[in-house]
Amino acid sequence: MAGGLALGAGAVEALSGFRLDTASGPFRELAREIKGTVVTPSSSGYAKDKLSYNTRFDGAHPRAIAYCASAEDVQKTVRWAYKHGIRIVPRSGGHSYAGYSSTSSGVVVDVSRLKGVHASAGTATVGAGAHLIDVYARLDPHGVTIPAGSCPTVGIAGLALGGGVGLAGRKLGLTSDNLVAVSLVTADGKLLECSAHEHPDLFWACRGGGGGNFGIAASFRFRTHQVGNVSYYRVIWPWSNATAALKAWQGFAPHAPDELFSTFFMGTTGPKGQGTEPAVGSGGQFFGSQAELTNLIAPLTSAGPTHVTVGTLSYMDAMLRWAGCHSVPECDAGGQLTFKGKSDYVNQPLSDTGIATLQSALEANQANASLGRAQLISDSYGGAINRVHPSETAFVHRNSLFSIQYVSAWNGGGSGDLQWLKNLYAAMRPHVSGFAYQNYIDPDLHTWKHAYYGSNFKRLVAVKRKYDPHDTFRFAQSIPTRV
Ligand SMILES: Cc1cc2nc3c(=O)[nH]c(=O)nc-3n(C[C@H](O)[C@H](O)[C@H](O)COP(=O)(O)OP(=O)(O)OC[C@H]3O[C@@H](n4cnc5c(N)ncnc54)[C@H](O)[C@@H]3O)c2cc1C
Repeated sequence: MAGGLALGAGAVEALSGFRLDTASGPFRELAREIKGTVVTPSSSGYAKDKLSYNTRFDGAHPRAIAYCASAEDVQKTVRWAYKHGIRIVPRSGGHSYAGYSSTSSGVVVDVSRLKGVHASAGTATVGAGAHLIDVYARLDPHGVTIPAGSCPTVGIAGLALGGGVGLAGRKLGLTSDNLVAVSLVTADGKLLECSAHEHPDLFWACRGGGGGNFGIAASFRFRTHQVGNVSYYRVIWPWSNATAALKAWQGFAPHAPDELFSTFFMGTTGPKGQGTEPAVGSGGQFFGSQAELTNLIAPLTSAGPTHVTVGTLSYMDAMLRWAGCHSVPECDAGGQLTFKGKSDYVNQPLSDTGIATLQSALEANQANASLGRAQLISDSYGGAINRVHPSETAFVHRNSLFSIQYVSAWNGGGSGDLQWLKNLYAAMRPHVSGFAYQNYIDPDLHTWKHAYYGSNFKRLVAVKRKYDPHDTFRFAQSIPTRV
C-alpha cells in the first residue's frame, strides 16, 4: 500500500483531547513523504497501535506513530522531525521495561515493517523490526541461527543494541557479539553503514550501548551458526531444598562447558496465601546429546529434585519451547503483560545470607494473597560471553557469574508489588556487584550510568557527542552528550 494517513472517525480526535491539527500540517506532510503509514490520534487504529508490551505504559499518547516501510522512510521521518522540531522515539518490538519506545511528547518511529530476514554465506541480514521468533523461523530452513533471546515478540533492534542474552549465549556469545554491521539512520538523516571498517566507533557503541541512543537502526547483519538438534533439561526441587539447589546451580552453571546455557528460577505459585510454597527450578539448553547432558547436570540432580526432564528437540522446536508457544503464528499473536523488573549481576557466589534474603522475600510474597506473581530468574554467564574483553564492545558485563532478574507481575493496581520489589532489591545490595543489564532498563536505578555501562560510559558519551550532538535521541536514561 502506498503511503498515507490512516484516518478514522474525526470524533475520536476531539474526544481524546488532541489538537485537531494533529492530522494535518506536519503530520499530513509526513504521510505524503513516506511510503509507510502515519497513524494519529484520529486514526481508527491509534488506540491499539500506541500500545507497548507492558500495560504500565498504556497511558502514553504519542502525537503520531510513523510506520516506516524502508530505511529511506526512516531517513525522511528523521529529517521531517528535525525540520518541525518534533521529538522522535524509535520502536521495534515495544518491550522496553521502562516504556522508552513510546512518548506523549513526540512521534514513535516504528520499524516493525522492516522485518525481512535473508541468510547467505555465513551471515544474515535482519530488518530492525523482526521479532525473535520470526528470525529463528526464517533462518531454520537454512540450518543456521543467531544467538538471541527467548521471548518470541521481543524486537531484534532493542535486543541486539543492548546485548542480547539467550540459550545459545555461552556457546555463541551475545546477539551483539555476532553483529557484523548495522545500518543506522543518524540524527542528521544520513544512513550510515557501521562495521569494524566504517564508523567503527559507532559500531562499537551499537554492540551493547543500548537502544534509542545513537540513531534508528534499519537493519543488522549478523554472523550465523549452523545448528541441528539440541538437548534440554528441566529440574524441579521442593521448596525445602531451595538453598541446596541454588548453591548447586551457582557452583556449576557459570563454569559448565560452553555448550550448556542454564537458568535458575524461583517464583510464587497460585493460589497464594499462608501455608503455600513458592516453586524452585532450573532449565537449560545443551549443544550435545541427551546422554551427555544427563551426566553433566549431576550436580543439580544430586540436590534432591522432585522432577527431572531431559529431552532432544530440533533447534526450531527448542526455540518454540522456550518461547512457550506451539507455532510461530501463536508466538507472534503475543499480547500484553503488566510487570516491573529490576536486575543485578552477581560476580561472586551468593553467600548463605544472600540466598536466604531471596528465599525469605519470596516466602513473604507467597504468603500475601493480595500481591501479584513474583519471579526471580537467573541466567548463567561465563563461556563465550565472558571471553570478550569488557572494552571490546560497549557491553561491559564480562566478569559475571550470572544475572538475577527480579520481576513482579500483576493485574490491576500493584503498588504493594512495587514496594515488595524495592525492599528485596535494597536487601540484596550487599550481595551483588552493582551492575545491571541495560536491556532490563530500570527508571528507578539512579546509578544507571555505572550499572549499565561501567568503564565504557565515557566512551559512549564521546560517540554520542560525535553522532548526535544535539541529543535528538533522548529519554530519561539515554547516553548524554556530556559526562
Ligand atoms: C517478556 C520479555 C522477555 C525478554 N527476554 C529477553 C531475553 O531472553 N534476553 C534478553 O537479552 N533480553 C530479553 N528481554 C529484554 C529485551 O531485550 C529488551 O526489553 C529490549 O530492549 C526489547 O527490545 P524491543 O525492540 O522489543 O523493544 P522496544 O521497546 O521497541 O525498544 C527498546 C529500546 O530500543 C529502542 N529502539 C527500538 N527500535 C530501535 C531501532 N530500530 N533503532 C534504535 N533504537 C531502537 C527503543 O527506543 C527503546 O529505547 C525481554 C523482555 C521482555 C519484556
